[in-house]
Amino acid sequence: MSIGQQIEVIQQNINEALSRRACSGMSAPQVKLVAVTKNHGVAAMREAVDSGITTVGENRVQEAVGKKNQLDRHVEWHLIGHLQTNKVGQAVAAFDLIQSVDSERLAIAINRVAAQQGKKQDVLLQVNIGNEETKFGVSPGELNKFAHFCSQLEHIRICGIMAIAPYYEDVELVRPLFRELYQLFSGLKHSNLPNTAMQWLSMGMTNDYQIAVEEGSNLVRIGTAIFGSRK
Ligand SMILES: *Cc1c(COP(=O)(O)O)cnc(C)c1O
Repeated sequence: MSIGQQIEVIQQNINEALSRRACSGMSAPQVKLVAVTKNHGVAAMREAVDSGITTVGENRVQEAVGKKNQLDRHVEWHLIGHLQTNKVGQAVAAFDLIQSVDSERLAIAINRVAAQQGKKQDVLLQVNIGNEETKFGVSPGELNKFAHFCSQLEHIRICGIMAIAPYYEDVELVRPLFRELYQLFSGLKHSNLPNTAMQWLSMGMTNDYQIAVEEGSNLVRIGTAIFGSRK
């Protein structure tokens, strides 16, 4: 299947997951499909954008900056990978949304650079939902404290939370974790912190996006199902 056809299949699957959610009486939000373009070239990216993709996700600053200079399409750029503090300047200049804010130290650095660049940087707070040693993000129990801290920084705007679920052979095992993330998201939404516009619950990738949408995700990050394997 072409990239365009894959995107159509995914949109269809998202719509079906939303219907299942609505059928069980839960609110069914619009879901934003972010195409994860890391390790894929600009030709594939153009094809995706010409097939309706409006937002791309990259995990490395350098790679994204290089592609940004070549793409010649207007898209929104999201950083979804761990950001080192020495790359913050470039990241703030290049990304519309930094999804991967995973420490107070990084939040402070982004805030300082955004102030210098005269920008208010939109960010998501990354939650390590499976408490995995190999993954970045604050633990679910630390999230409220982390959000309170970040909400004091005037040059960042907290727009939601992001998580990468653990990999399970049986994908159904992620459901309770997505449910927990939805609760965390709702809790923060209702706490009305300053410098906060809780819009995005970013959860769901190729393996688990249908379950994520059933559990309330409104932003899925998908690479493999659109572009094939990254090698
Ligand atoms: C690579 C990546 C994705 C996309 O993963 P696929 O399984 O290829 O859909 C999503 N989110 C993050 C943070 C990633 O690093």
